[in-house]
Amino acid sequence: MSFARARQAAVLPAAAHLLLSATLMLLSSSPALSQVRSRRASAATHSAPTFPRDFLESSDETNPLPTPLRSAAARYNSSPFSGPSSGPPDLVQLRLLTFGARGLLIEQARQQVLAILAAENSCSAWFRKADPAAAAIFESLEFALDDGPKDVVTVKSTSGEILFKHPYSAGVPENAGHDATVLLNANGSFFTSAADILRRDSDRGVARFAGRRDLRVGPYAGNTLPARITTLLHELGHAIGRLPDDSDELSGLSMQNTERVLHACHAEIKASVRQNRDKGNER
Ligand SMILES: [Zn+2]
Repeated sequence: MSFARARQAAVLPAAAHLLLSATLMLLSSSPALSQVRSRRASAATHSAPTFPRDFLESSDETNPLPTPLRSAAARYNSSPFSGPSSGPPDLVQLRLLTFGARGLLIEQARQQVLAILAAENSCSAWFRKADPAAAAIFESLEFALDDGPKDVVTVKSTSGEILFKHPYSAGVPENAGHDATVLLNANGSFFTSAADILRRDSDRGVARFAGRRDLRVGPYAGNTLPARITTLLHELGHAIGRLPDDSDELSGLSMQNTERVLHACHAEIKASVRQNRDKGNER
């Protein structure tokens, strides 16, 4: 999904100070949420009604925490004063490491997406068609966590149909480009596989618990690696204008946009998840 333009100015301290402070924060950080309520996005979900069976193969991924990012630890924890051993520091990664367990999940999916976009395949070509710098833009994207909506709410359409409004998964300003911030709902399908359903029988009635509902991203169960990779690719689609705005959560556009992403990227997502599992990062 996307939400109204609200680019956040990035304030980057000097790199050396950041390296030191990020290392220190790693030692003391807890998985507390960054509170980003001022940039709350409207509710929506990334899901699609039906997909070929093939799509569902990796939807039963379970989610132990990813193996800690050894490469990051090796690069930044050896000595805060010696700097990274090679290449410029990945400042986005450093900041994600200060987010605790959720930051590791974001960074794990982010690395998979970076690998997909760096290779020649139908997915990277599809994004480059909209912006030749798609991979670089994705690498520059910042992330923020929102302790956002957590329940599925039933809504009656104008035709009387009962619709399920899911807690949103992620949002980024449309066409925001380099350094935009992707807002991730800590209670959405990026991190969670199911949510309570709240039903309100009348406009003024009290919302009542009406069961649980699985959260999905397209064909993938929520809180799985393929769901997270798909979500990040979907948000990149908004950041570079590859996908149209879908912030009207009851329009069904968000699901259609996820289908577009999967049409171009399904094979790469599947291969990426398989490679990750083979490396032992996801059991
Ligand atoms: Zn969207």
